[in-house]
Amino acid sequence: MSSKSLGLSEGLHNYLLSVSLRDADVLRELRQETAQHAMSMMQVTPDEGQFLAFLVQLIQAKKTLEVGVFTGYSALSVALALPDDGQIVACDISEEYTAIARRYWQMAGVAHKIDLRIAPALETLDRLIAEGQAGRFDFAFIDADKTNYWNYYERSLQLVRPGGLIVVDNVLWSGQVADASDRSDSTQAIREFNQRLHHDERITLSMIPVSDGLTLAIRR
Ligand code: CA
Repeated sequence: MSSKSLGLSEGLHNYLLSVSLRDADVLRELRQETAQHAMSMMQVTPDEGQFLAFLVQLIQAKKTLEVGVFTGYSALSVALALPDDGQIVACDISEEYTAIARRYWQMAGVAHKIDLRIAPALETLDRLIAEGQAGRFDFAFIDADKTNYWNYYERSLQLVRPGGLIVVDNVLWSGQVADASDRSDSTQAIREFNQRLHHDERITLSMIPVSDGLTLAIRR
């Protein structure tokens, strides 16, 4: 996946950032550290992080969910936008990546807002539902293994309140979703996911070509 929005030229993308990106030092430092990492392309782009923070502020979210943390950039962006008593339940399976995340959350003074759960995300989401947390969340961001997208979405739809917002990353998958010859598991999973959401009457839907493609779904 690319570091800019799909279809934007490098020049236009740089212009967009130059007149809109409002960067905190801690976000820039985390990007620089993550860039050294072999899996650095898994990080959300700076404009995408800013957009997530914008959405969280727009809907005045207090309690949010994140599926897929990696080195913590999206959670950091969201946490900075949440009120001081806001909370993110963040799901990931990697101690190694999230050790970097924790360091930056501490540095930014937002660690108290982030409840990191190291376990397969489906287990964490099912536990939250079993604990009576359904309908308690305002916002969810899904950015993890693509073959489980539908499962993460179904659970997130239970966990967010009516009017709550679910954002799903990488729904255009570097354009591979439109390449019929691409039959890889991830590509097929995203394609099927997109088709199912298109007709899902439980949500209000919008798909936008920010970064690698974002789906916005409001629970009806
Ligand atoms: Ca992603």
